[in-house]
Amino acid sequence: MRALVKSRREPGLWMEDVPMPETGPNDVLIRIHKSAICGTDMHIWNWDAWSQKTIPVPMHVGHEYVGIIEKVGDEVEGYKVGDRVSGEGHIVCGHCRNCRAGKRHLCPNTRGVGVNRPGSFAEYLSLPATNLFKVPDGISDDLASIFDPYGNAAHTALSFDMVGEDVLITGAGPIGIMAVAIAKHVGARNVVITDVNPYRLDLARRMGATRAVDVSREKLADVEKELGMTEGFDVGMEMSGNASAFRGMIDSMANGGRIAMLGILGEDVAVDWGKVIFKGLFLKGIYGREMFETWYKMAAMIQGGLDISPIITHHFPIEDFRQGFEVMGSGKSGKVILDWGV
Ligand code: NAD
Ligand code: ZN
Repeated sequence: MRALVKSRREPGLWMEDVPMPETGPNDVLIRIHKSAICGTDMHIWNWDAWSQKTIPVPMHVGHEYVGIIEKVGDEVEGYKVGDRVSGEGHIVCGHCRNCRAGKRHLCPNTRGVGVNRPGSFAEYLSLPATNLFKVPDGISDDLASIFDPYGNAAHTALSFDMVGEDVLITGAGPIGIMAVAIAKHVGARNVVITDVNPYRLDLARRMGATRAVDVSREKLADVEKELGMTEGFDVGMEMSGNASAFRGMIDSMANGGRIAMLGILGEDVAVDWGKVIFKGLFLKGIYGREMFETWYKMAAMIQGGLDISPIITHHFPIEDFRQGFEVMGSGKSGKVILDWGV
């Protein structure tokens, strides 16, 4: 089969022939229809320090996808050939304390599809059936193919009650922008998002942000005044991985504010801990998606009228994957979907 392979220890991915993935008795074989490009795939494309120590070479990558089940292992129950599925990209052990307690997103033995094992930029993907998510009718293939990052946004956004609250999101990447739409959908009052990228701030406005703030030109404190906020934000979602954005968030929170942290900050990020302590802030780290409570809520929110479709800004046939990665790397895109043409 064909796949986008990291076959050399240098920037890029290459379309190559690779063996069909093996499927065990508890696995299914998925024929991939669409696979979207994630920020992680950009890191792998660019062959940065993280990728160099994490990604085995050669291996094909990708982990955001939708497809159709083509083969079902003998022990698999509840799925059949022809089912339209996406899947949870975190493969967990099933026997650790967290897994046994139903908190699979906290498994210390997690392995990533398209990171530690072959991924979805391929004609076929083998996946344990326990990781499948059957896509309800009425949810498009395009939307289903971005359930993984939509799930990061949903897991973060649903961590704290936002009804009537003033919400600050730092980082208008695809995930931050989807979090805007979710926050509005579940009843937040003001949803303010920050970035330094005008294209993405504009997209965030179209997805319902009360204010999309370019922090290189405008002060968050002025925006708070303009919105009549006197004590700061109630809920924060850090989705930039940028140190100064995180510090700015801590400054802008109300006493007792709650912060969910998805963006991956460097090890050496210094924070004024006095502010965290004296403001009585709550900080919660977010990894992946809750299996499968987040997935259930993602589908239900779309069925209930949440529209995240404007975040999908580009489609390319898989043969034009280079253009797809180029657009994604330019910062002038939301989600970019590669289509296998089936
Ligand atoms: P992204 O890189 O596309 O978006 C980050 C955005 O932050 C960019 O638009 C960038 O311009 C913006 N930014 C840079 N400096 C800023 C500043 N000073 N203030 C405000 N914004 C600033 O990333 P994404 O795909 O949307 O993902 C968001 C973050 O979540 C990334 O850090 C990613 O690595 C992380 N992530 C974490 C998990 C997890 O499980 N914890 C999963 C997926 C992604
Ligand atoms: Zn486990």
